[in-house]
Amino acid sequence: MTFPSWLSQLCRGLSRPIRRTTQPIWGSLYRSLVQSSQRRNPEFSSFAVRTNTCGELRSSHLGQEVTLCGWIQYRRQNTFLVLRDFHGLVQVVIPQDESAASVRKILCEAPVESVVQVSGTVISRPAGQENPKMPTGEIEIKVKTAELLNACKKLPFEIKDFMKKTEALRLQYRYLDLRSFQMQYNLRLRSQMVMKMREYLCNLHGFVDIETPTLFKRTPGGAKEFLVPSREPGKFYSLPQSPQQFKQLLMVGGLDRYFQVARCYRDEGSRPDRQPEFTQIDIEMSFVDQTGIQSLIEGLLQYSWPNDKDPVVVPFPTVTFTEALATYGTDKPDTRFGMKIIDISDVFRNTEIGFLQDALSKPHGTVKAICIPEGAEILPVFLNANRNWNSPVASFIMESQRLELIRLMDTQEEDVVLLTAGEHNKACCLLGKLRLECADLLETRGMVLRDPTLFSFLWVVDFPLFLPKEENPRELESAHHPFTAPHPSDIHLLYTEPKKARSQHYDLVLNGNEIGGGSIRIHNAELQRYILATLLKEDVKMLSHLLQALDYGAPPHGGIALGLDRLICLVTGSPSIRDVIAFPKSFRGHDLMSNAPDSIPSEELKPYHIRVSWPTDSKAERAH
Ligand code: ASP
Repeated sequence: MTFPSWLSQLCRGLSRPIRRTTQPIWGSLYRSLVQSSQRRNPEFSSFAVRTNTCGELRSSHLGQEVTLCGWIQYRRQNTFLVLRDFHGLVQVVIPQDESAASVRKILCEAPVESVVQVSGTVISRPAGQENPKMPTGEIEIKVKTAELLNACKKLPFEIKDFMKKTEALRLQYRYLDLRSFQMQYNLRLRSQMVMKMREYLCNLHGFVDIETPTLFKRTPGGAKEFLVPSREPGKFYSLPQSPQQFKQLLMVGGLDRYFQVARCYRDEGSRPDRQPEFTQIDIEMSFVDQTGIQSLIEGLLQYSWPNDKDPVVVPFPTVTFTEALATYGTDKPDTRFGMKIIDISDVFRNTEIGFLQDALSKPHGTVKAICIPEGAEILPVFLNANRNWNSPVASFIMESQRLELIRLMDTQEEDVVLLTAGEHNKACCLLGKLRLECADLLETRGMVLRDPTLFSFLWVVDFPLFLPKEENPRELESAHHPFTAPHPSDIHLLYTEPKKARSQHYDLVLNGNEIGGGSIRIHNAELQRYILATLLKEDVKMLSHLLQALDYGAPPHGGIALGLDRLICLVTGSPSIRDVIAFPKSFRGHDLMSNAPDSIPSEELKPYHIRVSWPTDSKAERAH
């Protein structure tokens, strides 16, 4: 008999990639789990009633008496049963002889996804029935005893990874969704990477793992915070958006190398790929400069990188914020592909084309372009390389300009040039967005622009310290947070042209996603007070504890935070950060399993001196 087709389908289903990344299968999950420990293999069955896991049995176990516990993945004609645990799948032979009637009854009647315990002998599969695609495919279990540990009712969806289900349903029954191979892989890989990060930071570099409060007070500026009522009338705690103040205070306290797997909270409303609570690998150290933090993080990622991926190459390249914006139109460039922005203002200095003339006559006015390789496939053509330019402006472009453009843009037949004119930053941002849109379009047409196995890290440095406030551009706000130190060569600008001052902030970007950011901090109380009070017009009383601490011998210090959810999402090639969090919120911030946030009887709000003022339209809703 050949490898049963349902089993091959099952294995294919288990390993089906969600994206185009190479996704591992149960066997590689097992290998990566075993390799996770540097010194010895973990004992997966210690203290448990099982002797082995479902995925670990091989021909070397032949003849052994084993006890396995797992979920019924599949049953075939009451003769075989496939048992599953986090380690993999194993085939169990349902005994047919009369003397084993009770065992047969249990194994034949228990619904799929029931949890059972079986004891028996490891035997080889009959010749020809081996399954080379299944790590346990050479053996099967001849059962002697079986126990139904718990039956499974009719499921809201099939557990198999290849069965499509809506995300809302997955989140509602998250505990079932967690049984899928993909979720098992993501969460176990996450745990393994965090373990290695701890090892690297604490054991190799002397960092101290310290927990900081999550009941705190409001921090001026930055993201919106969640409030927690207190029993004191009108007084609230805030859930911190990050342990920023605490980690700096730890430096003042002489805990000179701090790290924490920190839960952070930001009340930013519904955003498709953000979570109101998320996790950071939060780091701070004393007596360090920017390059020190960058090397620490490169080493950390190299050390904790999963074994089944290509190794991380260090040092990571660095670009300045200004270069990133001018070349890629964003401060988080995806450097896996080209299509860079090129300044073609000089080609059009003497142009007769009105909108270009107009743009170039203004301060910071530019003409910029990107060249889309084989773009004629995906776009209505504006300017392509051949003579018959198909564009509303083509007839106004002189031959010399055309040749210069082709030279500058290195344009080939079938390429498309997208051109925009306007203020430098705006023009770049627009082309940056188009660059990504076009990359998506080209890839849907089959062109491989972004190698799914490639991890392209990049440091972005030399950010501006301040930005004009959106609501009032004449006022300033911190580009990151108000504790960021200015660039040493720009300190004088704080007193003359603060808008021009660069900061000692650095962002870490991976494949076009910001996965971390940090800075060297201000450790001088006077400078910190000047920035808060004079430049940012913040109420310094709210931060008096921090300002005071800086005055008591605060060491020079700096740090960084890595967004763990986003990092794991990219490493696993998951479509959403919700796929790497055990119990995430929906994109509206709801827990679809328990229905949080939930209403509270007004009686219970009394101790907090709070009364709900219902919006008028929801009153009607509540009346129903
Ligand atoms: N606390 C900062 C953040 O959450 C990171 C840092 O500056 O270390 O973005």
